[in-house]
Amino acid sequence: MKMSKLFVQTLREFPSDAEVISHKMLVRAGYIRKLTSGVYNYLPLMWRVLKKVENIVREEMDSAGAQELLMPFVQPKELWEESGRWEVYGKELMRLRDRHNREMCLGPTHEEIITSIARDGLKSYKQLPVNLYQIQSKFRDEVRPRFGLLRGREFIMKDAYSFDTNQEGLEKEYENMAKAYTRIFKRCGLNTKMVQSDSGAIGGSVSHEFMVITDTDAGENDVFYCECDYSANSNHAISKLPEAKIVGDWAKSEIVDTPSTHSIEELCAFLNIPASLIVKTLVYIVDKKPVLALIRGDKAVEETKLMNAVGGIDIRIATAGEIEEMMSLNGFDSEKGFIGPNGLKEYNGFPVTVVADETVKAMKNFVIGVNKKDVHMVGANWGADVQLPEIVTDIRLVEAGELCPECGKPLKVTRGIEVGNIFQLGTKYSKPMNAVFTDVDGKTKPYVMGCYGIGISRTAAAAVEAHYDEKGIKWPLAIAPYHAIVIPVSVKDELQMKVAKDIYETLKKHGVEAVIDDRDERPGVKFKDADLIGFPYRITVGKTITDGLVEFKVRATEEMSNIKPEEAAEIVVTAVHNL
Ligand code: ATP
Ligand code: MG
Repeated sequence: MKMSKLFVQTLREFPSDAEVISHKMLVRAGYIRKLTSGVYNYLPLMWRVLKKVENIVREEMDSAGAQELLMPFVQPKELWEESGRWEVYGKELMRLRDRHNREMCLGPTHEEIITSIARDGLKSYKQLPVNLYQIQSKFRDEVRPRFGLLRGREFIMKDAYSFDTNQEGLEKEYENMAKAYTRIFKRCGLNTKMVQSDSGAIGGSVSHEFMVITDTDAGENDVFYCECDYSANSNHAISKLPEAKIVGDWAKSEIVDTPSTHSIEELCAFLNIPASLIVKTLVYIVDKKPVLALIRGDKAVEETKLMNAVGGIDIRIATAGEIEEMMSLNGFDSEKGFIGPNGLKEYNGFPVTVVADETVKAMKNFVIGVNKKDVHMVGANWGADVQLPEIVTDIRLVEAGELCPECGKPLKVTRGIEVGNIFQLGTKYSKPMNAVFTDVDGKTKPYVMGCYGIGISRTAAAAVEAHYDEKGIKWPLAIAPYHAIVIPVSVKDELQMKVAKDIYETLKKHGVEAVIDDRDERPGVKFKDADLIGFPYRITVGKTITDGLVEFKVRATEEMSNIKPEEAAEIVVTAVHNL
């Protein structure tokens, strides 16, 4: 490919609306162009990268025994009604109607479709297990599309679905996929951590995410990990707590004045107690319904855990206005800072649900709000003063320094980009959709399913987050749009041009994807573009060619050397053949 013909427009500046590196770099280097919010054109360079990621995924999925198919992007409502997800999926699901007024959606994921395919074709245990996958565009009307390809509304995903006769088979396939994923990301030049996670809207019980660890804003997930093998997304992480004072010194319960103590810190200072003696009451709205969360004063609520505890799909903390409204509706004159579970019955036309975190259970003689401004109850106990709610479960956000649930050493935290995940779905879809097979004992049973996703476009962007410098991208060789660029410093110099062309032809002949920068531009401009676009190897033919030498640069390490043209070509050819 000649650089003069390559369809690429690099920009002088980073785009002003981009917050993270991969977004900035991919726009500036001419890989992507925004069409509308969260929707991007993949320009020729990007498409080459995406195809490479796809091919690695394909090769590894095929060699792990999965079979590729392609399902439609548009899906009928009926199948989503069968699974029960039409009502619950929420606003991320892009719904539309055709000319006959039939309701459809743009596929955000394909469990319903694949389950319907399976039930039509897989009737007997003899046909199982099967793993089917596709590489397809998805559409999710994300609340906050951002970070370029990392969180788009339209994006490319590899999604695989396995069908087994029993849980044991599923677990085996789950392992098989975990191994394939590890190989895939490694081949893409990414170090990933496999972490335990919440299973969210897709459902199921066991799931893991593959995280690219990063210390930048692009990492939307907090990952807790330990020297031992334990690691988990914050929405799923658990920990043991170090010792804390959880039994107060009050001899009996009483209401005491605590004027203007709106925060836990203020209340602690006023009463001269540690926060671990306070039961904190937080008000949340889950799918419009009021939910109170009770948790030890020195700890925070993990919203996904709380949402799962009440079976919701959308959660947010209540506003000060909503809290006041809720207070007066239930006959109290109170505000934030003085809330407690006693006597709060309804809000928004729904009964109030109370969820207690496990941390509060063992507390005694504690401090708690009683829905009255400027006072608190001290010396309170479960049963006598406050009812311990029916739902007592883990809704706590783990903090770094708390102790590993497996080995007891302090946990550390880092941020991660989720590039893939694997779920044990069980019969979550096969049961409601009546997707059954006849087992060896003659009985009909629902398939035991797993599903396995990889964000193709997100993986490509994550590779940029992991490999760049101030000058541009440093693509891992396996997914670079081109392997090498050959730059004649002066296109008017006959010798330089001839050697450059020879190298270029040699590279091409040996299967290297190369670009020759035939533009009549200053060398500085050519070098800048080469660094920005991120060619893994650069061979520059300049004045030293009169001594028989070219300048060879490895973009990943920025190492430069003056070597013979054939040596430079040899290094690149070997590296490409070793991929
Ligand atoms: P997230 O928590 O980041 O929203 P998810 O749990 O919704 O991800 P899945 O439904 O499991 O993701 O999708 C499988 C893979 O698709 C994810 O691991 C991720 O790599 C990719 N993916 C999900 N949402 C997006 C998006 N909005 N843009 C780009 N890739 C995405
Ligand atoms: Mg999501």
